[in-house]
Amino acid sequence: MLEEKNLYQTNNHSQKKSKPSALPVERQEVVNSWGGANANISYVYRPTTIEGVQEVLTMAQRYGRTIGLRGGGNSYGDAAMNGENILLDMRRMNRILSWNPSNGRVVTEPGVTISQLWQYVLEDGWWPPVVTGTSKTTIGGCAAMNVHGKNAWQVGPIGDHIISFDMLLPSGKIITCSRNENADVFYAAIGGFGMLGIFTSITLQMKRIYSGNLQVHTQAQKNLTGMFNYFNENLEKSNYIVGWIDAFAKGDALGRGDVHRANYLPPGADPEPQQSLRLENQHLTPNMFGVLPRSIIWLGMRPFMNNFGTALVNRGKFITGRIGGVKSFQQSHAAFHFLLDYVPDWKNAYGSGGLIQYQPFIPKETAHDAFKEMLRLCQRRGIINYLTVFKRHRPDNFLMSHGLDGFSLAMDFRITEKSRSRVAMLARELDEIVLAANGRFYFAKDSTLRPEVAEAYLGKETIAQFTTLKHRCDPNNLLETDLWRRVFG
Ligand SMILES: Cc1cc2nc3c(=O)[nH]c(=O)nc-3n(C[C@H](O)[C@H](O)[C@H](O)COP(=O)(O)OP(=O)(O)OC[C@H]3O[C@@H](n4cnc5c(N)ncnc54)[C@H](O)[C@@H]3O)c2cc1C
Repeated sequence: MLEEKNLYQTNNHSQKKSKPSALPVERQEVVNSWGGANANISYVYRPTTIEGVQEVLTMAQRYGRTIGLRGGGNSYGDAAMNGENILLDMRRMNRILSWNPSNGRVVTEPGVTISQLWQYVLEDGWWPPVVTGTSKTTIGGCAAMNVHGKNAWQVGPIGDHIISFDMLLPSGKIITCSRNENADVFYAAIGGFGMLGIFTSITLQMKRIYSGNLQVHTQAQKNLTGMFNYFNENLEKSNYIVGWIDAFAKGDALGRGDVHRANYLPPGADPEPQQSLRLENQHLTPNMFGVLPRSIIWLGMRPFMNNFGTALVNRGKFITGRIGGVKSFQQSHAAFHFLLDYVPDWKNAYGSGGLIQYQPFIPKETAHDAFKEMLRLCQRRGIINYLTVFKRHRPDNFLMSHGLDGFSLAMDFRITEKSRSRVAMLARELDEIVLAANGRFYFAKDSTLRPEVAEAYLGKETIAQFTTLKHRCDPNNLLETDLWRRVFG
């Protein structure tokens, strides 16, 4: 029998109907959250067509099982997991259905990855308007979470660039949704974490670019106030901006780190755009420093995955960042955006307990003090986040949005047998700070959110609106995930 590992209130006693399951045992697979801190068993199906998905819907109803949707499985927590039930892995529905290089409109199946997409459109002088820190995410998964990029304050989340989508309802009916057609479902299914229906095709608007390179500037900031000031001063003149914070720094250095910002090259600035837009000039080299295969680098990181080692690495990074002041250089789009793909499987360096991420979004008026308090709290509790990413955002019109006019701080916490319950307790304390600062949370990253906290930041009315729509789209609650049961179940 396969072993289950369920953490953070994930509730799997979810067999919807009394009829016993006769689902085939050979479909059982152990499924992990991306961070590896959650694992359970599901019946996994990987259809290649809409008819294949419809067959799974019929089968689930016959056997009284729920269906969870999964794209690339890059959600840090349990958003794409459905223990003891069916998991519909959409990655094989990965065709680009149409592409118009003159206006930048693309229609994709949901399993197309960001990696596939940018490689498809780049040579025609286009780039996805919003990309995630890894290129392994699927368009369906990105739409369902309404993901943001390092340009979130300027262009909003991916939903702001989705023109329309087709969605298969559990009844088997396909509906088209856009800002003018089924608009209520459009604004709720984007960011609706796969609870209303199954995206079967998505029409997206790409962004015109005039070079395969970005002009990048990096600068170290000596503390959190420096970070905020730098962001505020540079937002208007940047297309992308992101801060990497050293969560170990204390006192006057609290919140110090490096900022990376980048700009598109205007038309004419790149003397040879046909060259820089070629795929061979985007790809990361297979080796680091010319010799070390990237695939084994995580092994070298493992000894540093403790408080002492990570503090040392962070300090080293900060000192290197300070040397030479501002650095300015050109970098390919792929190299700038997918820094987290440089080292394949880097999450393995966290060890067998994996990691969770906690990413609050806090209004600009309260963010500085709230982040300060949070960093200090982590230090007092001796549970320090090893990777900390700082971003700027803007509000949007999607129902279950995480977006607001403010900042986010994504904090990665290592999970071990010893730290598991302490991290969960810490998350409760952090929740209090976030709520007091009028902050929000993000389902793509979440592992710890409790129903009362979700209700406090989303509001009863928003949750009621969402559940009413769910009832309309999915009256028998066929679509469920561990996250849904944990937070809304
Ligand atoms: C290294 C790393 C970096 C990241 N960087 C960012 C970042 O910069 N910005 C950001 O916003 N997020 C970021 N994320 C989070 C990630 O982008 C989101 O979790 C995204 O949703 C993952 O896409 P996926 O295809 O892996 O979807 P999954 O994680 O598999 O699923 C996500 C959600 O989509 C639903 N879903 C999947 N397919 C469909 C479908 N066809 N129809 C309806 N619902 C569906 C699932 O049920 C689930 O609720 C990062 C994650 C990692 C691991």
